[in-house]
Amino acid sequence: MRTARFPAQGQSEAEVESGLRLMRARDRDAFAGIRFARRFHAGDDIAELAARTCALFAGAGRASHYPGLPALPSMARIQADLEAWSLELVRAPAGAVALLTSGGTESAILALREAWIARRKALPPGSVGEVIAAATAHPCIDKAAELLGLRLIRVPARPDHRADPAAMAAATGPATVMLYASAPAYANGLCDDVPAIATIARAHGVRLHVDGSMGALLAPFQRMNGDEVPDFDLSVPGVASISGDWHKHGYAAKGAAVLVLRDGPATPFAYAEHPLPPMITDTLAGTAPGAPLASAWAVATRLGAAGYCALAAALGETRTAFAAAIARVPGFAVLGDPRFSLMLVTSNRHDMAAVHAAMARSGWFTLLSHAPAGLHLNLNPGDAALAADFARDLQSAARTAA
Ligand SMILES: *Cc1c(COP(=O)(O)O)cnc(C)c1O
Repeated sequence: MRTARFPAQGQSEAEVESGLRLMRARDRDAFAGIRFARRFHAGDDIAELAARTCALFAGAGRASHYPGLPALPSMARIQADLEAWSLELVRAPAGAVALLTSGGTESAILALREAWIARRKALPPGSVGEVIAAATAHPCIDKAAELLGLRLIRVPARPDHRADPAAMAAATGPATVMLYASAPAYANGLCDDVPAIATIARAHGVRLHVDGSMGALLAPFQRMNGDEVPDFDLSVPGVASISGDWHKHGYAAKGAAVLVLRDGPATPFAYAEHPLPPMITDTLAGTAPGAPLASAWAVATRLGAAGYCALAAALGETRTAFAAAIARVPGFAVLGDPRFSLMLVTSNRHDMAAVHAAMARSGWFTLLSHAPAGLHLNLNPGDAALAADFARDLQSAARTAA
């Protein structure tokens, strides 16, 4: 890419817009023919609704933190609704609070900050606070620990590739600030045994945060459909906080997520000595965009529980179709019993790096997992019809890789 000089003269609106339209057309070309390139896609109509809503709320900020300046009434309503809906969906008890964030990473940072504030005075003098997570936990917890100056201890997963509650218990000590569990883990799509880890957290008096980026806003609708889904939300005693991403299985525009804390209120960031009136925020950003939240509100209102249930059912059919098609290809298997949208395809026979490369040449976007070696699939509700093609290409990839 060439280095651009800052534009000396402005261009006409028409020039700016036609230039951008051309860039967007090239975006589409770059992705054309790559299957699985679209993540968290609930149909073009929903994506377009989210985009139009963002345009409608372009420039709208979230509720004001300036004394005397009211929140936009629209954003106040949207935020209050999203908070209430999030609390309901993760089965939060009275007293819980929802913080609207920009994504799973911000939610993890804020959850760890709350745990750190609650625990820091009780830590042994001179010790560095510790967070305990399984090897399969999303790297956002590494980022959170680094930012807060804490040490992340990753413990190996069990042979079934889920977090090992006994190993997490063994790693818990006087400097432990928080335990971290995933529902499901991004690495392999499998759900940790949250009730078992919550029991350990309670026994040691430390907080447990559940990373529900992938599952928290999907499981409620799977349950309504009668699917068997493990319990991992605030209905489990000992879970202190849970994250959920409206921009994943809520199908909102990017930048909409939530952190729910069992024991509210959140500890705000506040600095009272500033020459201006205290600026009080409870999430990371100062100026925070309202548009992604408005898109989450619009999509949720458009779909309702019935719409999300239909999408969850379609996702279940997709998962079943892929699992069945993969099981018919000799030498491959799906890892464990995935219940959400992620799955890992492993092999006891084939070099998965070579299979991954061959699948990429056939136009499949998957991530290559190293432990265990496998292809990481992120399925969309409408993908069931791709399963047969996928299995056929997997079979020929195996021949190439042999
Ligand atoms: C996506 C994801 C995250 C990070 O969320 P961002 O919205 O990308 O910041 C964390 N954990 C899991 C399980 C995820 O899938």
